[in-house]
Amino acid sequence: MTAPSTPDPHRKRHAGRVVKALARSYPEAFCALKHRDAFELVVATILSAQCTDARVNLVTPALFERYPHARALADADPGELESIIRSTGFFRDKARNLIAMARGLVEQHHGEVPRDLDDLTRLAGVGRKTANVVLGTAFGIASGIVVDTHVQRLTQRLGLTERNDPVKIEQDLIAVIPPKEWVNFSHRLISHGRAVCTARKPLCDACSLASICPKIGVDAASRPKPKAVAKSKPLDESTPALSKPASPQSTAARRKRSTHAH
Ligand code: SF4
Repeated sequence: MTAPSTPDPHRKRHAGRVVKALARSYPEAFCALKHRDAFELVVATILSAQCTDARVNLVTPALFERYPHARALADADPGELESIIRSTGFFRDKARNLIAMARGLVEQHHGEVPRDLDDLTRLAGVGRKTANVVLGTAFGIASGIVVDTHVQRLTQRLGLTERNDPVKIEQDLIAVIPPKEWVNFSHRLISHGRAVCTARKPLCDACSLASICPKIGVDAASRPKPKAVAKSKPLDESTPALSKPASPQSTAARRKRSTHAH
C-alpha cells in the first residue's frame, strides 16, 4: 500500500469523534460471516462478493462440512462445489477461485492461512479487502482498514474522505484513525450502514452520529420524513455485524464466540 495521506488536524479530530460515537452505538462488534477459523473466514469472505452475508451463512455450514480444510477444498470436484455455492451468485468464478485458493494454501503454506498481507493477496480470489478482513478478524492483526461498499458510502457521507477508489479511501482513513481502531471501525461502520445509514434511505433523523455528521451527498429528499422514522432502528439480530475488538488477546475468545453467535 502506498503511503497514507497527510493527516488533516481537523479531519483527525472529526475522525476521533466518529470513532467514539460508533463505539458507543456498537460496543460489541462481531463478524457477520460465520466461521470457526481463518480458513473458513477466507472461504466465507470470498463467497461474500456480490452477495449478502446472510446468504453466505446459509451456504457455509454444508460447505464446511464437505470441505473442512484446505486440502479437502483443493481436491474438490468443481461441479459439486458449484452446486453447494450456487445461491451466492457468480458460483463458477467463486468455485474456481476457492479451489485455486485452497491449492495455494496447500502448496505454499502447508494448508494454513498465512498471517501476512502480501502472502494472502497472492492467493486466488483474495484481494486487499479480504486480506484485511482475515488478518483483522481471524488473527487480530490490524493490517489496514476494510473498505467495502458500506465503509465507502459512510466515510464519504461523514466527511472522512472525498475519494471513490477503495485503496485511496483506505489511505485517507489510515491517516486519521489509530491502528488499534482499524478493525472495529470497519465492523461498526458496516453495521451502521446496514441498520441506519443505508444506501437509499439514510435514517439521519434517528442516527446517533447525526450531530457530528456533515451528511455529505445525502439528498434531503431521499431521507424519510421525521414522522416516518419513529425510533432509531435497533441493530437487527440478523444484521451480520461485526466483530469483537481484534486484539490478539481476544482472538481466541472471538473465534469461540464466532462459532456460536455468528
Ligand atoms: S447522519 Fe445520516 S448520513 Fe450521517 S451517518 Fe447518520 S444516517 Fe448516515
